[in-house]
Amino acid sequence: PCGRMPLGAVSLEKSYGDLAVLKGVDLAVDRGSRLVVLGYNGAGKTTLLRLLAGRERPDGGRVVHGHGLRLGYFAQEHDTLDTGASVRENLAAAAPGLTDGEVRRVLGSFLFGGDDADKPAGVLSGGEKTRLALAGLVHSGANVLLLDEPTNNLDPASRDEVLAAVGTYPGAIVMVTHDEGALDALRPDRVLLLPDGTEDLWNAEYRELVALT
Ligand code: ATP
Repeated sequence: PCGRMPLGAVSLEKSYGDLAVLKGVDLAVDRGSRLVVLGYNGAGKTTLLRLLAGRERPDGGRVVHGHGLRLGYFAQEHDTLDTGASVRENLAAAAPGLTDGEVRRVLGSFLFGGDDADKPAGVLSGGEKTRLALAGLVHSGANVLLLDEPTNNLDPASRDEVLAAVGTYPGAIVMVTHDEGALDALRPDRVLLLPDGTEDLWNAEYRELVALT
């Protein structure tokens, strides 16, 4: 019914108590397209991704999941990882299409040089968890990835690796970011601004980010 649009939202509204966070957000994510979501702290970026992922329900409007949508979600809190399972098991579970050899190759090149494959994912650092989760998503076979500030806690070298890997991902990507390098690397087709209604908070940094696109 949605044609080539795997994911969309119509007039999305979400409040927490008296706080109206999303006040009528529309978006359409076409196949293979890249959308970056910008806004201040508290503007509702994570809330929007959680609604798109079906983790929360909107108070108004609706999320449209197109036929055959397979969604991958990167949460800043890394709650998609199984902390008791090993690094290797997490990657294999996230990307069931990979052969054992491909899992070894991904772990060897993209993650940790392969040495940490048998560690439980729970003992990894924040940045290592990010890299593991993103490696799983990039190879998951999902057709839309929702990425919530994926470069947040990465050192510069890891950030470049991750952005290169994400850049080769063939499906659609919706990325929340404050990172100019990530915005640049993703080359978004569109940028969605979530205003919080306080114009004087709209600072030069964001103007520059928007001007880049
Ligand atoms: P940041 O850039 O800081 O990550 P954000 O744009 O992702 O911010 P959200 O995490 O979506 O913002 O939060 C938007 C607002 O909604 C914030 O003021 C937050 O405190 C509030 N909020 C989010 N989740 C809840 C909740 N479960 N209960 C109450 N308030 C919430």
